[in-house]
Amino acid sequence: MTSRRRDRSGVEFPAAVVDDPPRSCPVCSYILKTAAGCPECGASLETIASLRRRSRRRIGATVTAFWVLIALYLPQCWIFLMPGSWSLYRWSWIEIWPVMPGFIPGLVGGRMLFGVGRSDPLAIASMAAATVGLALGAFFIARRGPRRRVIVCGGLFLTGAVHGFILHGLYAA
Ligand SMILES: [Zn+2]
Repeated sequence: MTSRRRDRSGVEFPAAVVDDPPRSCPVCSYILKTAAGCPECGASLETIASLRRRSRRRIGATVTAFWVLIALYLPQCWIFLMPGSWSLYRWSWIEIWPVMPGFIPGLVGGRMLFGVGRSDPLAIASMAAATVGLALGAFFIARRGPRRRVIVCGGLFLTGAVHGFILHGLYAA
């Protein structure tokens, strides 16, 4: 390992100064050699720290949203993977795929609140509400940390698998 590093302009500086951690200014990308704000653009330490926190949060939110959507929708992919013909009946189920994660709660809600069957717009709206509720609830819990993300997405996936299995039963009945 070399004990010296170069910044973008090729200027050498002792590794000890930047190794913990080697950072650049989030405003102007100037390689920071000291912990006293940015000498290049004048960004203060608070500005630099808050920009870093914000970008970490953004990355956290994107990754969390990705895993929540995977956990939510992957178990409902059975409708695409099943053998059998692509009948109109099958397409009638594919049409509601975007709200499928909330199918059963929406179906129950639609029946209890409005007394309607599964293809009624009110039932579809209930499924959509249940799907959005699940997604948002899971997102806000999961983004509180990597461990919660694993637990929430794992739980969502397993519940979704049971849900998909029941749905497949309803579909085939
Ligand atoms: Zn700067």
